[in-house]
Amino acid sequence: MVQNLLNIPPRLEIARTKTPLHKLERLSDKLGVEIYLKRDDLTGSELSGNKVRKLEFLLADAKAKGADTVITCGGAQSNHCRATALAAARCGLKSVLLLRTANPKHPPEAEGNILLDKMAGAEIVWITPEEYANRFDRFEQENSRLQQLGRTPYIIPEGGSNHIGSWGYVLAMEEIATDMKDLKIDENQDTTVLSATGSGGTTAGLLLGKKMLDVDVNVVGVNVCDNEEYFVNEIHRICEKFCLTYQVGISVAKDDICIIDGYVGDGYALSRKEELQAIYDLAKLEGIVLDPVYTGKAYYAMISEISRNKQVFGKRVIFVHTGGLFGLFPVADQLTTLFK
Ligand SMILES: *Cc1c(COP(=O)(O)O)cnc(C)c1O
Repeated sequence: MVQNLLNIPPRLEIARTKTPLHKLERLSDKLGVEIYLKRDDLTGSELSGNKVRKLEFLLADAKAKGADTVITCGGAQSNHCRATALAAARCGLKSVLLLRTANPKHPPEAEGNILLDKMAGAEIVWITPEEYANRFDRFEQENSRLQQLGRTPYIIPEGGSNHIGSWGYVLAMEEIATDMKDLKIDENQDTTVLSATGSGGTTAGLLLGKKMLDVDVNVVGVNVCDNEEYFVNEIHRICEKFCLTYQVGISVAKDDICIIDGYVGDGYALSRKEELQAIYDLAKLEGIVLDPVYTGKAYYAMISEISRNKQVFGKRVIFVHTGGLFGLFPVADQLTTLFK
């Protein structure tokens, strides 16, 4: 392990890592580009996906600060909130989830991730999109409410995306570097590590890891909400805070951040037919199941970009499967229309 990784903050071991990296042979043949999959959907079963890596560090910090409750936020079907609720329960912490929905008086049914949130005993507070836009105020309100009840809350930002959570993906990049050596695919710099970007922490961590460990890859994120400008700023902010806090001897400029915009489609968590068709096709071809909100959109972006220009990502892509399986069930009706 290189010098840069000596200052790793405390971590709870709740993710099943190291996750496998393997080649998708049939897809690679079809696209004419080597496609590898980093199986971060296998970081657990109920506790699966990319958020678990971040929560290892965030929950360790919460525990170190004496917290008994974590507060976080997300969309109604948030994978991050589900992972937080379950991981918190595993550590003996309570959780409060601020979940966004059009009309809090009529919240969505307890299916998919919401069902699991409830199973984990999370306290769900339904909030409007307007309240969500001011989520920092809403966090403070919940914080005071819990403190008045004698509790010690700890706030985890949207997606667990801050300097602490990003450590999870610094270490994931270290795994990828080892994987590449093991698979003997480190001989040139023609490799792109591609993942979905929803709050920025994953892309920030991968980029920080690449720089700290000097890994010869391009890091690319596909935004599934907002736009390129938003994420360049957000990721830059997370990286700056990280570099300042941990003094890792690197810096990240806005120009280092590569976001592929143009694939939000109908909007966050809204699926177009072609995206679902791509998910369905991959499941048939490779037995790999993506989610509609994040990995499905990033995958659709990847195949669309490659079909336009085979060289766009270089010789190979390492696609990070960041999980999200439970998000598939709420779109079952839409998917079913494709089965004929
Ligand atoms: C949250 C999430 C992402 C996005 O990661 P960020 O770190 O929030 O950018 C990607 N895929 C899945 C399945 C997620 O749940």
